[in-house]
Amino acid sequence: MKTSKKFIFFMLFFISTFININAQKKYAIVIHGGAGYMTKENLSETKEAAYIEKLNEALLTGKKILENGGTSIETVIEVIKVLENSPLFNAGKGAVFTHEGKNELDASIMDGKTLNAGAVSGVSNIKNPIELANKIMTNSKHVILSGTGASEFAKQQNLETVDPEYFFTEDRWNSLQNILKEEKKSELNEKEKHGTVGCVVLDTYGNLAAGTSTGGMTNKEFGRIGDSPIIGAGTYANNNTCAVSCTGHGEFFIRYVVAHSISALMEYKNLSLQESASLIINKTLKEAGGDGGLIAVDKNGNIALEFNTQGMFRGYIKSNGEKTVLIYK
Ligand code: ASP
Repeated sequence: MKTSKKFIFFMLFFISTFININAQKKYAIVIHGGAGYMTKENLSETKEAAYIEKLNEALLTGKKILENGGTSIETVIEVIKVLENSPLFNAGKGAVFTHEGKNELDASIMDGKTLNAGAVSGVSNIKNPIELANKIMTNSKHVILSGTGASEFAKQQNLETVDPEYFFTEDRWNSLQNILKEEKKSELNEKEKHGTVGCVVLDTYGNLAAGTSTGGMTNKEFGRIGDSPIIGAGTYANNNTCAVSCTGHGEFFIRYVVAHSISALMEYKNLSLQESASLIINKTLKEAGGDGGLIAVDKNGNIALEFNTQGMFRGYIKSNGEKTVLIYK
């Protein structure tokens, strides 16, 4: 009798441990490469294939990290670096030009477990702004650093710097020239301005993280700062609710505190992740005239990819094997 009791106890312990291990293995990665006015008609087949390939590469980079026991923060950084190093996206290498013909990069990262966050704005010589945002989060006593001070801090942290020329790409330069030629903000010009990259992750330990990186908006002036480096606007993560990364017309995302609003709707109104994302993007922002979208993942691994533009470079991968990359509506 004693032995059989012991045996049952052992079996229960074994089963619960097994269930636990499996529960912890659950993960999800969602990425975006900017929302905008891309359509099947205005994106060449070659470009479309290049975007799909890069988004896949980013997802697989993240999957590898998570499956090797990496954290959500590590995953966000490495996934975003893949996108920052590509000239296709408006972040890092492919950053858009300011009115003065420069590149001023913004990025942010947030850890849902600790609510620590780091952000950088207006740097012109840091190869991977997302790494700098992370160093600001972990190695400084501040949340946001900007401009020359941020570059100085990056140097102290031994981050890779580049000549500002590194950020020159023909496509982005031509976009600025088109806008400058007309200067009046026609519809076409609005369409050429968008882009950003972002990544949100639920890791196998149940921790959430979010990151965003951008060149901002083409033709931006006077040291303009968008939503991407603003915690709560372009990026937010909280283990109690969700992790969010936004893309779109930053001024609207700042004024409607979009990323945090998704979390707040879940926490205080008990809305689901999808309901919250849809409400903010398709109603609140749409009615206000704010173009854009967001990606999000909640603590249970549910995901949302919502946008009110014609397209959003986006994709996700989950521990159950699901993997998707999409561009158009
Ligand atoms: N949200 C970015 C900004 O306003 C741009 C974008 O995502 O399209 O700087």
